[in-house]
Amino acid sequence: RWARQDRLGPELFDPARAAEERRRHRLAAAMPAALDRGEFTLHYQPLVRLADGATIGVEALARWPRPGGRPLDPQQFIQVAERTGLIHRLGRTLLEQACRQGAEWRRAGHDLLVSVNLSPVQLSDPGLVAAVADILHRSGLPADRLQLEITETGEALPYRSVLAGLGGLGVRLALDDFGTGYSSLAVLTALPFTEAKLAAELLLGFHESGVLGLIIAACHEMGMTVTAEGIETAEQEQTLRALGCDHGQGYHLGRPAPAGKGRFCSGGDG
Ligand code: C2E
Ligand code: MG
Ligand code: MG
Ligand code: MG
Repeated sequence: RWARQDRLGPELFDPARAAEERRRHRLAAAMPAALDRGEFTLHYQPLVRLADGATIGVEALARWPRPGGRPLDPQQFIQVAERTGLIHRLGRTLLEQACRQGAEWRRAGHDLLVSVNLSPVQLSDPGLVAAVADILHRSGLPADRLQLEITETGEALPYRSVLAGLGGLGVRLALDDFGTGYSSLAVLTALPFTEAKLAAELLLGFHESGVLGLIIAACHEMGMTVTAEGIETAEQEQTLRALGCDHGQGYHLGRPAPAGKGRFCSGGDG
């Protein structure tokens, strides 16, 4: 009886699923005005060079604090924005915020790489390359100080020329969450990525096997730098450093936080 219900699952009335759908609709309806009001912000998480512990950049992560409400999981509101198409406008707004912040850090004497997540849906926007060029120009951030992170979902391969266009601007391209979902060595070699970001799941899965070292070596062989995500312990940091992983990111190395006054400005001009 249960097996049969499982098979028919999606067609039966499922109160939990219906509630989730209503919640998504409410979110979708609230997002355009929230974007107009400037409610979407960014937190920045340090990207650390494992060889010497220096902070060489930051990943910009979207936040929607919602006045009077609980903060939402970015994965959820980004997915809703992808479905409604708002991701194009939201993505540009966040990219502009991040580039302005990067330029501001630069003026304060801190040369940081700013790494911004790009939804694969944004790659279908024919104006994307021109928009990125325009945002770079207006913010004053040099193109090679911007990195765009893309999670492969099976949609990026058809947009090879868009990625080539972005690469042509001098922007760096990272394959995000490498080792999960659709991402594969085939994707890495077919597209002009300059960096592979190893998913946290990969760290846990291959911690002792040496396979991780082979993956890092293969990425280096292809001319890419490697960042390990989700480093939560000193032991993981040590292992990855020993394996020659270039950069690391994770709660052990620094949590995402607002740009704040004087953050990454240890010289003390804040
Ligand atoms: P992501 O791009 O892979 O970002 C890394 C996520 O891992 C972030 O979650 C970060 O807070 C979290 N994280 C960092 N260090 C650790 C750690 O040591 N342990 C654990 N467990 N987690 C860690 P966050 O901020 O919730 O973002 C989730 C996802 O939402 C991102 O994954 C990205 O796919 C998407 N996202 C966030 N901001 C944006 C954005 O501006 N645009 C787009 N298109 N997607 C975004
Ligand atoms: Mg990312
Ligand atoms: Mg991602
Ligand atoms: Mg990631």
